[in-house]
Amino acid sequence: MSSSVVHLKEMGLTRWVFTTSDKSQIPEPITKGTGDGLGLQELSDSKWVELQNRVSDCQLCSLHGSRHNTVFGTGNPKAHWMLVGEAPGAEEDRQGQPFVGRAGQLLSAMLFSLNLSRHTVFIGNVLKCRPPDNRDPLGDEVRQCAPFLHEQIRSIQPRIILAMGRFAAQALLQADQSIAQLRGRVHCYPINDTPLVVTYHPAYLLRSPQAKAKTWEDLQRARAHYVGQVCGDQ
Ligand code: SF4
Repeated sequence: MSSSVVHLKEMGLTRWVFTTSDKSQIPEPITKGTGDGLGLQELSDSKWVELQNRVSDCQLCSLHGSRHNTVFGTGNPKAHWMLVGEAPGAEEDRQGQPFVGRAGQLLSAMLFSLNLSRHTVFIGNVLKCRPPDNRDPLGDEVRQCAPFLHEQIRSIQPRIILAMGRFAAQALLQADQSIAQLRGRVHCYPINDTPLVVTYHPAYLLRSPQAKAKTWEDLQRARAHYVGQVCGDQ
């Protein structure tokens, strides 16, 4: 048994391992600007740095007063896969990185099952600062902070967006439906029509492992639309 399969077993994800024939269908992650012939717009590094600086200096909402660090996001700023969660937790706030701890480990395993890694995708959150006591984000906080996320998406130009959890889905789709209503189909991110798939947040999966099967369906849906790039196709 390979070490990677052992790793997935440890995460309780044995059922998510691709078969050999499945793996042959998974495209290798492609990095923009490497001669892939896609004609995608090159990211301006200076604009990205300027955006990082604006986030780290931001005081637009009251969360700036209680944060230790802003959490801008991590991964490849030219990635084709973008994953969006809700907000930093206590450990993320301490480290300035998204999805650390057990939820982060589960997210890494989910990526691994898609032949991806934290280095080949970009992972961010709707809020860049931690809400105290891990409470839900407030509407005004989302309104103030979401423009940073939209700017990140415009710069990255991902081929597929995975919205993890209700807050991410609602913020990205500017919707108020429940996650149950938003799951199960491919949406169009309204700003530039990128295919967007809604799934559960890894922290929820830790509490409700029975939802992993539905999450696996969502990941397969995202993978299919990553390959096909058809926005809104069911
Ligand atoms: S949560 Fe967003 S809007 Fe609020 S202070 Fe942090 S970066 Fe600024």
